[in-house]
Amino acid sequence: MAERNVTENFITNIIDEDLASEKHHKVVTRFPPEPNGYLHIGHAKSICLNFGVAADYQGICHLRFDDTNPEKESKEYAESIQQDIRWLGFDWLQNKFHASDYFDQLYGYAKQLIEKSLAYVDDQTPEEIRENRGDFNRPGINSPFRDRSVEDNLQLFRAMRAGEFADGSKVLRAKIDMQSGNINMRDPVIYRIKRMHHINTGDQWCIYPMYDFTHCISDAIEGITHSLCTLEFEDHRPLYDWVLDNIDIGCHPQQIEFSRLNVSFTITSKRRLSKLVEEGIVDGWNDPRMSTISGLRRRGYPPAAIREFVKAVGVSKKESVISMTVLEDAIRNNLNKTAPRVMGVLRPLKVVIENYPEDKVEMLTGSNHPQDESFGSRKIPFSREIYVEQDDYQENANRKFFRLTEGREVRLRHAYYITCQRAIKDDAGNVVELRCTYDPESRGGTADGRKVKGTIHWVSVAHAEPIEVRLYDRLFNHPNPASLDNFMDAINPDSLEILPNAVLEPGIAEKDEDVVYQFERNAYFKRDKTHETGKPVFNQVVTMRDSWAKIEQENN
Ligand code: ATP
Ligand code: MG
Repeated sequence: MAERNVTENFITNIIDEDLASEKHHKVVTRFPPEPNGYLHIGHAKSICLNFGVAADYQGICHLRFDDTNPEKESKEYAESIQQDIRWLGFDWLQNKFHASDYFDQLYGYAKQLIEKSLAYVDDQTPEEIRENRGDFNRPGINSPFRDRSVEDNLQLFRAMRAGEFADGSKVLRAKIDMQSGNINMRDPVIYRIKRMHHINTGDQWCIYPMYDFTHCISDAIEGITHSLCTLEFEDHRPLYDWVLDNIDIGCHPQQIEFSRLNVSFTITSKRRLSKLVEEGIVDGWNDPRMSTISGLRRRGYPPAAIREFVKAVGVSKKESVISMTVLEDAIRNNLNKTAPRVMGVLRPLKVVIENYPEDKVEMLTGSNHPQDESFGSRKIPFSREIYVEQDDYQENANRKFFRLTEGREVRLRHAYYITCQRAIKDDAGNVVELRCTYDPESRGGTADGRKVKGTIHWVSVAHAEPIEVRLYDRLFNHPNPASLDNFMDAINPDSLEILPNAVLEPGIAEKDEDVVYQFERNAYFKRDKTHETGKPVFNQVVTMRDSWAKIEQENN
């Protein structure tokens, strides 16, 4: 049996029962985003669950744009949502719908409710409606317009649609129970007047249905079997069921709620994410520090790793915040297996190997993955002048520092042993160059079998490809920014560090491939094609833990 997308949980148990009892023969789910922003990591959970469950049961998952709020919605957002779902590895096939596809039918069902004396036009102001709805401790008060006749209501509702009333002057409300303990059931508004251009229906409508009325009917029209949504809709379920019980539609999907995915140090709210974009805190919705799917894509997170992460988190009804480290570990685990290794120097320090011939170039062989031979190997040019990392040299190193300091020998990855002879300083006392010597017999070990403890990476100066490297840290310095009065107070001022003078071994930057590389001993990096500054730009995907301790083990 193929591996399942979604591990067993209370929702798959319900589905199993429904199939066993023949309540359903096929599973139909839907992912219902509102096109009012870019999708984020939280949405990835809903996508993996809805599309994943459908695939596991050989069913289908619809993509349905929940487009009932024209003032905030745009085609750009709708496009980005589709791109993000596909990139995550899912497909709605021909099943792309919009709540706005059903505006005519929704209008018809609203009239049905009026005809059954289950809906009425209310002339109260929005403030009066809010006040008279009551609250948790105070029951609601019936509207003075609640007992209008069916004929009057039908005529007024038609006139609302015909544009005879000003925006906000009237609404259509379901007639349920102003005393209900559930405030959602206190005659909820189901239509409002709003003269707004809609991305799909243009100026055809000046009244728009509300989410709670629209969602359940859209589910029923599409024959959805299991309508999976997040816990905040639990209190709306009685309304979901009331609407479907009181119109003639012949299909009643089951709404099932699960807990949202929250990740520490991030924001999962389109409204807040859009504020970061508007205020220029980040470089757009797809800034590599954003928790948007497009940001994670640009950052270099592999879609398979995001799916693995969501699967590991699982599905339940318990609210929780998942540690950012869990997400980063999922990315690391994936990249450790999939990323080819190369050598890049982030903060270069020049080394001259004094006893290496001036114009000699050797092509040395480096394996592309230390644990997986299928990655093959590549040729790396070696010459008299190379770059190493500035912090691989220390002037007054103690005995535990196994890298470059006067008189100490280290191994160059895939190359020779070198011994540091002396450092050259500028007038300000900064080390600007190292003078070293090499042992010509030391490729792949030495004749006398002597060991060195340190291995460092390098790039030949004459062959180095100049690149810009961007290191990212968390965008917020508070584990739960959404819990603050103002989440903007938690923005980490040091979330981006630009290294303009980095270098990379040749033959990598010019490859026009969508590959994440491990720059050995540094981190994982991916070329950023959205943002180029004359030089290729590489974004840090994720750091490596124990980075060089590991490589040292491999070599000794
Ligand atoms: P936001 O607050 O970011 O706007 P939303 O719930 O309003 O989120 P929708 O476009 O309505 O955004 O979401 C589409 C679907 O994704 C809904 O079914 C919603 O329940 C689900 N979803 C949104 N956020 C999360 C999350 N953090 N975890 C799991 N599912 C989520
Ligand atoms: Mg929403």
